[in-house]
Amino acid sequence: MVAGLNLHGPPPAVADGRFAPSPTGGLHLGNLRTALLAWLFARAQGAGYLVRVEDLDRGRVRERFVAEQLADLAALGIDWDGPVVRQSQRTELYEDALATLRAQDLVYECWCTRAEIREAASAPHMEGLPEGAYPGTCRELSARERSVRAVAGRPPALRVRADDARIEFVDRLCGAFSGIVDDMVVRRGDGVFAYNLGVVVDDYQQQIGEIVRGADLLDSTPRQLWLQQRLGLAHPGYAHVPLMLGADGARLAKRHGAVTLADRAALGETPERVRSDLAASVGLAATGERPAPSELVERMRSMIASGVPA
Ligand code: GLU
Repeated sequence: MVAGLNLHGPPPAVADGRFAPSPTGGLHLGNLRTALLAWLFARAQGAGYLVRVEDLDRGRVRERFVAEQLADLAALGIDWDGPVVRQSQRTELYEDALATLRAQDLVYECWCTRAEIREAASAPHMEGLPEGAYPGTCRELSARERSVRAVAGRPPALRVRADDARIEFVDRLCGAFSGIVDDMVVRRGDGVFAYNLGVVVDDYQQQIGEIVRGADLLDSTPRQLWLQQRLGLAHPGYAHVPLMLGADGARLAKRHGAVTLADRAALGETPERVRSDLAASVGLAATGERPAPSELVERMRSMIASGVPA
């Protein structure tokens, strides 16, 4: 599944899947299709399916979306195993992971503002790095330079020294992919653990064997594989599913109109209809057909068996 990487731990015993939404808004049809596909991959392989609420960014999280998102999944016929896990209740695990990185002398403090990073990131030596990559400004600060910044007041973010490592892996759907890992943030200046750290810790801790998620996260995967290596965690498999697009060809968003389950209900569409349309959009149903969730699982199983996973 993951080629060219040194596995540090045993692979998870069960290839469970998961959906890990951030409750910062309603799920749109693209998010729902990703959740459905992740569920179909897991269930078609006889695996468990877990839901994790990625609610670390308290400033952006709205509690009502937690219940709303779970209700949308249930309405589509997507079920999950065990309790829903909330990242906001797991900070001790992230503290431990940070300590493991610190013990390897991989962590440093960074005082850069967004504007400074943007400016430095346009320098020629940044070619080949992912968009938004950190140029390394604070990596080699002297003790004196650090104390000058520390007394200036703003608490620093914590970054890891990744030395522009190149990570290659094989995605189940996108094929061979390779990316350079920049010095990513692992804890923000306001103390919030970063997405990449949380996701890696939780996917391992929850024994997720295969991560099925939107292709917008393909670029983040080399960073997560790098963190897994440094933390001594087994690598899960990855399958990045295509993003749903609006009529204008851009990634689906609120501005495209009736994009949530509630919007579709207001137009008279039942959840069965929406599920069927989503399935039809990936070749698992014919237009107008209304297959039950169990039937979709069967079809997914055949698709996987015939080597055309989605
Ligand atoms: N919470 C992330 C999001 O909603 C997804 C994380 C993941 O699937 O790895 O975009």
